Order: sequence, then C-alpha cells, then structure tokens
Amino acid sequence: MADLTPHALRVLRARYFLRDAEGRPVEDAAALFRRVARGVAAAELDYGSRKDAEAWAERFEAAMAGLDFLPNSPTLMNAGTPLGQLSACFVLPIDDAIDAIFQTLHQTALVHQSGGGTGFNFSAVRPEGDRVVRTGGRASGPLSFLRVFDRATEEMRQGGKRRGANMGILDADHPDVEAFADAKRRPGVLRNFNLSVGATDAFLEAVEADADWALVNPRDRREVRRLPARALFRRIAEAAWAGGDPGMVFLSTINRQNPLPGLGPIRATNPCGEVPLLPYESCNLGSLNLARRVRGGEVDWEGLRGLVHLAVRFLDDVIRVNRYPATPFALMAERNRKIGLGVMGWAEMLIRLGLPYDTEAARRLAGEVAAFVRAEAEAASAALARERGAFPNLPYARDPERPRRHATLLSIAPTGTISIIAGTTPSIEPLFAVAYTREGVLGGEALPEVNPLFVRMMEEHGADWRRVVREVAATGTLEDVPGVPEEVRRVFRSALEVSPEDHLKMQAAWQAHVDNAVSKTINLRPEATPEEIERIYLEAWRLGLKGVTVFRYGSKGQQVLELGFHP
Ligand code: UDP
Repeated sequence: MADLTPHALRVLRARYFLRDAEGRPVEDAAALFRRVARGVAAAELDYGSRKDAEAWAERFEAAMAGLDFLPNSPTLMNAGTPLGQLSACFVLPIDDAIDAIFQTLHQTALVHQSGGGTGFNFSAVRPEGDRVVRTGGRASGPLSFLRVFDRATEEMRQGGKRRGANMGILDADHPDVEAFADAKRRPGVLRNFNLSVGATDAFLEAVEADADWALVNPRDRREVRRLPARALFRRIAEAAWAGGDPGMVFLSTINRQNPLPGLGPIRATNPCGEVPLLPYESCNLGSLNLARRVRGGEVDWEGLRGLVHLAVRFLDDVIRVNRYPATPFALMAERNRKIGLGVMGWAEMLIRLGLPYDTEAARRLAGEVAAFVRAEAEAASAALARERGAFPNLPYARDPERPRRHATLLSIAPTGTISIIAGTTPSIEPLFAVAYTREGVLGGEALPEVNPLFVRMMEEHGADWRRVVREVAATGTLEDVPGVPEEVRRVFRSALEVSPEDHLKMQAAWQAHVDNAVSKTINLRPEATPEEIERIYLEAWRLGLKGVTVFRYGSKGQQVLELGFHP
C-alpha cells in the first residue's frame, strides 16, 4: 500500500469508507481498495474461472493501492456494496413535453442519489412566452425547467456523500439564449449547474464574419428574431468574465468525431464536459497516475503500457457489474460500452522530468503520452473484443469493420477528488500554486496545502521553503520571490503563470488523441477582459477542442481553490 497524504486520508474518511449503523468508518484504505477490486473483478467470473477472477482482483487491487490507477469516485464508493452504481457521468433527454421532462427529473434524482452527475441539452424546449396549445397558456421556457432541476438537486445529496453536479446546455440559436447566458450572473442562482452554450461551426463562422444570427423556435423551426452574432458572443463572454459561466461546447466538432453516428447526433456532455453522450448513455471513468510513471528521469513506458491494459479491462468489468439507476441506462451501457480512461498527475510528471508546463517540449510529450495511451487502449479493447465480443452497436459506428469492445476509450476527467486521494496534481492541469488553501471540498473545511514536491526540491537545493511559502501566500506565484533556485522556479509554473494560450495548447495537445473530450479550466488573472475571453473561445474552437471553460481568478465570491496560505 502506497503512503497516503493526510489530505487523502481525510477525504477517504469523510466520504469513501463504508460505515456501520452508527456512522463509524468500518474500513481503511487497504480494505477499500480490496473491496473495489473484488467487486469489479466479480465480472471476471462470467468469462473465466474463479482462480482467474481472483488473480485479476489482486492485480486491480495492486494498481489502486499503489496509487497507479484510480477509478472515478462512484466506483470507489459503491463497488462491492448493495448500491453498486459505479458511473460518474450520465446524459438524459429533455423533450418539449411536461410528462417527459418530469420523467427525466425523476431519473435524474435516481442518478444523483447513486453518486452520478448529469448533463442535459434544453434546446428542444419551446421558448418562454410561446404558445401552449393544450392549455391555451404561455410556455415557461427552458430556464424555468433548469431552475426546477437545480432545486431538485439542491434538495438531494448524492448517496449522502456529494451533491449532484449538472451540465445545462442551450444551443446558440435558441430564442432564450441571451437570458441563458446571463442566468448565473446573480450569486447563488443555478449553483448546481455548469452552463454551456451549444455552438455549431455556423455560429462561430457568423461571429468571425460579423454576420447576423437567427434565433429559431424549436417547436416549428421558425425564425423568431435576428441579432448580430458578435452581440450574442459578447454577452456570453461578459457573463463568463463575471462568473465563469457559460462555457461553450463545440457541437460540430463533437459530431464530426461522434463514434456512433448511426445512433444520431450528440447534443450534450456530462457535468464537467469530458464525455459527450447521447441521451441515456453513461460513462465510467478511470485515471492513470502519471506522476508515478517517471523512472530515472524518463517516462516509464513499459509500466504505462501494462497499466493501460489493466485499466481498460477494469473499466470493461465495471460495465458488467454496474447497477444502473434505470433500465434505459443499462441498455445503452451494454450496447455502446463507452469507457473513459484518462490521466492525473501530468503537471507532476513534467516537474519530475524537468519540463516547464508552457513549452513546446511539454506539449510534444503530451502528444506522445496521449498517442501511446490511445494505441494501447485500442489494442486492449480489440483483445477484449476477441475474448468477450465486440460492443453490440458496432454496426452504427464510424468504422464498423474494426472490431472493438468499446465505442469510446479515452476521456480526460478533472479528477477533482481522486487526484487528492492519489496525492498528485489533478488531470492535465498545471499546479494551482505551490501553496494554497482548498475550500469546501469536504463541505466547508479549509485545507491548507503546500506542494510536497516543491518542498522536496527546495530541500534538495538547500533552500528555505518555509520563508518562500510565506511570500507566495501574498501573491500566489514564485515569480518575484527571492531565494528560489532557477531550476525550481522554471518547472513550478502555476495555473495563473501559464498564459491562457498555453493552457489551450496543452488542452489541444491531449484532445488530438482523445476520442471523448478533455475537461480543463483556462485560468485567467483577475485583470483579464471579456475581449480576451472572446479570443480564447474562438481559439479553442479553431484548435479543435470540444469545449472550453474559463475561470477568472477572484470572479466568484467563494471558490474551491484560494491563493494565500496561512500556516
Ligand atoms: N461529478 C459529480 N459530482 C461531483 C464531482 C464530479 O457528479 O461533485 C461527476 C461529473 O460527471 C464529473 C465526473 O464526476 O464530470 C468526474 O469528475 P472528477 O474527475 O472530478 O471526479 P472524481 O472521480 O475525482 O471524484
């Protein structure tokens, strides 16, 4: 069992360990990883002997206990328990009918109760004030239903452990899109939702050309109104400047790479954007810890290869043993078998290799690692298809002659909690800072953190990290703090020191090899402008990203990560 940091233990104790009737934790980390490994490897009994299943359980356990690979939180919480819902990501349909919307609300509650997050596109809902034939009244519009979903989420805590996260999307040509862009500008409104505008190439081309843009009623496809595309784009950027929402999802890019075009277009993603999904699809995620794949100053390619194959098998087994919140989810998961293998600890890997995050060399390595993981995951999926059969909806795929077990393989999730458990940097994000305070992760308690790798490197150079950390507290950066050796300074590039363009380029370097999407936050300094956000959104689209989210430091009253450290 690898050593866990104090923060990791706190998080595990607060939310992940099983408890007895009195609420006392009844497991430790080793027991948790054993429970999850056995729960997932139970799937192996369908394909092999009991001895084989036990051998796989041991391998799964070693990968998790070694912090080399971790599945998404619902798997850690629920595998090997009666609840047994293991997926983090779901998308549900929103039709223009009260019955259907409230059926989706019901299913959403079941997903949230079991630890999953949900995404929706509300664009089929007729606009506010539109005609309702049956009652002769006026329609309340998509935003009113967003509020209903938000309220329901607010009242439910996921399995008593975490609040359900939601993604709400409205297409750029919906008549209510301006109100949607502004929807989160008042504090506390829709706080359980991330919002994204669904943008096609046509919209962004209209922005580029400074053309007019038509808003269309989804009920009858009639044009309601026209406005300059740039006016709408500015409004979106100003709202994002004020509070981070809305982001954008690039629907044309997503659909050019839709792995199952025969099943129809994709219009939504999960809450953090890393998995574009059809209605009733879900995805279970797992992440490789790249921080642990550096040996003797080099990438440990052989170790990585073995872990990719193990992880693909693990995630395939998850689909088998998963207990879905409702039948339509089970059917879609069994037919499409989408999985999302990703990474965490990328910034730490770069630091260990001595590569600054915002350099061409770092992006080149990102491409190499991503391509390697992709190729090995494809090989693993093809091997499983030979052993267990291809996914049943293969005939609807873009390339149905290439047998494989899964419609998708890779996805870069935020790893917000599992990276804490693994004690490394989240996802492909740069360090947030060498020292900061983490707010609210456990429901309000502030966790001060100093990057342990920074401490170690400073000590190796005989430098006084305590004094430096106190100074970093004031500014959040190492930039002007004396007493930091140059080799240390150049590799500890924090999120706000990396330029927005370099954030985007890193996201693009990974996205080029990822069949699902990459969840990433483009961090901006407090003085960034709405014009800058417009440029970032356009650049994100041109780089072929599937979505983009910005966060301007200080733009929300309360934020998860706070600069400034008070020892
Ligand atoms: N998620 C959620 N609620 C949360 C955090 C995450 O529903 O509070 C879902 C959401 O779909 C998100 C996905 O889990 O996109 C993955 O998030 P992350 O990688 O941060 O989760 P972790 O496995 O680290 O908890």
